[in-house]
Amino acid sequence: MFRRTLRIAAALLLTATASLVVATTTAAPAQADTCYTWPRYLHAGMTGDDVRQLQIRISGYPAYGQVLALDGSYGPATEAAVRRFQQAWGLTVDGKAGPQTLGKIYDLQDGDCTPANFSYSEMNRCNSDWSGGAVSASTAKFNALVVMWKLEAMRHALGDVSINISSGFRSYACNSAVGGSPTSKHVYGLAADLIGRPSLCTLAKQSRYHGFNLILGPGYPDHNDHTHVATQTNLYWEAPSCGI
Ligand SMILES: [Zn+2]
Repeated sequence: MFRRTLRIAAALLLTATASLVVATTTAAPAQADTCYTWPRYLHAGMTGDDVRQLQIRISGYPAYGQVLALDGSYGPATEAAVRRFQQAWGLTVDGKAGPQTLGKIYDLQDGDCTPANFSYSEMNRCNSDWSGGAVSASTAKFNALVVMWKLEAMRHALGDVSINISSGFRSYACNSAVGGSPTSKHVYGLAADLIGRPSLCTLAKQSRYHGFNLILGPGYPDHNDHTHVATQTNLYWEAPSCGI
């Protein structure tokens, strides 16, 4: 009798454990990550900082010529960007940030939240503390982070090529030393100069799909040796030698 009771108790415990595992799998975050762990899966209609964290990482997937708002609101533009991200990475295209989509983002991000193929040091060859620009050091660094996520999308779209950044954030001092315009987006951390291969025209053309609405390249004064990609309030792109 005692043994039988024990056996039943053990069986009950097993059942309880099994349902606990199921419950955990459904409700818990997709995956622990040293950078950021989403507390829930996301879909259209949701709002919050976790939505904004998603938007940062899919900012390279807006509509052509558009810039995805980092407003923490999972609206139609965010849903469409998630769909493009899913399409680009061969995932199920449903516009929702579920385990597969967040899992892919976890794969793509480094411990400091930069995308796998770019680093803060590439986006700041000017100083070590992001100071001296048009915005606070933390804002400049954040802006540079978003630029990197856009470039990550772009490099993947170009066939996982390396993209070379010759200049990213600049303090006013660094900017004037290289003869940059005082109103340059470089002093905000919002710009990157791209050089080398793929060709400057390939980079200029492709960047139109990845959240850059200020693009200056070959044929534009002083831009025959690099393509400048940035974000500003209005759309302006000019690279006459590339047909842009
Ligand atoms: Zn530039």
